[in-house]
Amino acid sequence: MPLVLVGTPIGNLGDLSGRAVEALRAADAICCEDTRRTGRLLQHAGVERRPLLVVNDHTEVQAIAGVLRRLALGERVAVVSDAGMPGISDPGERLVQAAVAAGYAVEVVPGPSAAITALVASGLSAGRFVFEGFLPRQGSARTARLAEVAAEPRTVVLYEAPHRMARTLADLAAVCGSDRAVAIGRELTKLHEEHWRGTLADALGWVSEHPPRGEFVVVLNGAPPPTPASDHDVEVAVRACLAEGDTARDTAATVAARLGIPKRQAYAEATRQRRLG
Ligand code: SAM
Repeated sequence: MPLVLVGTPIGNLGDLSGRAVEALRAADAICCEDTRRTGRLLQHAGVERRPLLVVNDHTEVQAIAGVLRRLALGERVAVVSDAGMPGISDPGERLVQAAVAAGYAVEVVPGPSAAITALVASGLSAGRFVFEGFLPRQGSARTARLAEVAAEPRTVVLYEAPHRMARTLADLAAVCGSDRAVAIGRELTKLHEEHWRGTLADALGWVSEHPPRGEFVVVLNGAPPPTPASDHDVEVAVRACLAEGDTARDTAATVAARLGIPKRQAYAEATRQRRLG
């Protein structure tokens, strides 16, 4: 029998699909993050109580063996998270990997996800995007990820907790430039749903005037294409490398990588400067 991933609402219970209710009703057991929360969802959907297995960030790895045993016995096991799609910044991914590795089928009953909901309303390009989930909270991991996000040419979707919104927007403004466009989805599908759009500088002003409450998705415009290096840029970069004692060949490699120009162009400039002394 399959492992069945079931998407659940991200705020509005009306978004629980008929297929989701059927999948929960057909399940012999349901993996969930929080039994009380999922118990309330089952009650709302009129699904009789059945074994609820706690699978959260702390228990997912230990829970795998028990879930595989149930699948081996021919049980249907559903997986839900507190909200949205399991496996998206939520438990589920490792259960799926284990079920696939053990040869069990995996089915999905798709439902809302905050990332896609915010993206499509952002007004930014949804043609090509990357999902980053939550940024690392601190240290070199955060610095490195911020640099990657800043250089990313595709639209970037991030999750953030309300009390870290101001810091994250400030960090993004520092690495992306404060004029980068951003959209913020707040309390999506809920009573106080809001879609804010502007620059990172405006966003910082917005959160300082309205202390963030509720749930947030940050959708960041992709990095603009780099401006092509001018002849003067190439000349300066080559001169600096040669002054360091680099060979013409090493200079060409370094300058080509740094300025995004063909190696032969940098090499020609290096040999020209060498000739001139
Ligand atoms: N699995 C979920 C999904 O598919 O969207 C995401 C779970 S993740 C633990 C929770 C984060 O998702 C929140 O901190 C927030 O960034 C975002 N989120 C979830 N529901 C949201 C909503 N209704 N409005 C805005 N953001 C939401």
